[in-house]
Amino acid sequence: MGAGLPAQPRRDAVLGVALVLKSKLMERGNDQRAGEAAELAHSLIEKSLTARPPTIPITCRSGCAYCCYSYVGVTAPEVFRLANAVRASRNEALKVDHVRARGLPLRGLNPSERTGRKLPCPVLVGDLCGVYHERPMVCRQATSLSLEACVDEFENAGKYAEIPVSSLHLAYASNVHVAFLGALEAAGYSSDAYEMSAALDLALSENDTQRRWLAGERLFAGLPTVVRPSRDVEAVARKIAEAIS
Ligand code: SF4
Repeated sequence: MGAGLPAQPRRDAVLGVALVLKSKLMERGNDQRAGEAAELAHSLIEKSLTARPPTIPITCRSGCAYCCYSYVGVTAPEVFRLANAVRASRNEALKVDHVRARGLPLRGLNPSERTGRKLPCPVLVGDLCGVYHERPMVCRQATSLSLEACVDEFENAGKYAEIPVSSLHLAYASNVHVAFLGALEAAGYSSDAYEMSAALDLALSENDTQRRWLAGERLFAGLPTVVRPSRDVEAVARKIAEAIS
């Protein structure tokens, strides 16, 4: 847990991480445990990067936000973590009503409908992520080795660019992500991912949404675009869930 997961982790290391995440998700009497589990998963990606830093030079820089105009899929615990960060923020631009209003044009758009539309993420403030430390795992793993490719996707409606990425960043985040999905399943929660602005809007709509979701309410079931993990990822997550159940 102190060093995250390597790029090619041993099976027992992945299961160990999944068990810790599952324990957090099942912590009795803790109505914040979903968001806290997402925070724990995120911290493991950071630890993986710190323990074995990639040496490949990436193009991403503070203030470069082309990827923040793309589709983002989030699991429920991640969205509760985001919602808490928005509620706690003192930034005027991140007031709950403002974030919900900025997310309106994005709701219901699928990934290809987002490309080239130049619709910013609802928590993008200027060219900076307003919830940088709480950003979803998919944002944490997004690295680019080509600014040209990012601009290409930003400019071209309905067309994905081949954006070369850092394989180590991707591996660290993917390993923790699949352990997290397995932990969610083993704890009895959905591992579906949802379009971020719509899910965030729902999470921010009342103060007790996390508690209700933890209690079994299918809070996000009516959202128009539900993203399921790929079959491969789903199969690995299921095996992890079975092993730790
Ligand atoms: S959450 Fe932050 S990093 Fe992710 S798309 Fe939105 S602004 Fe960008």
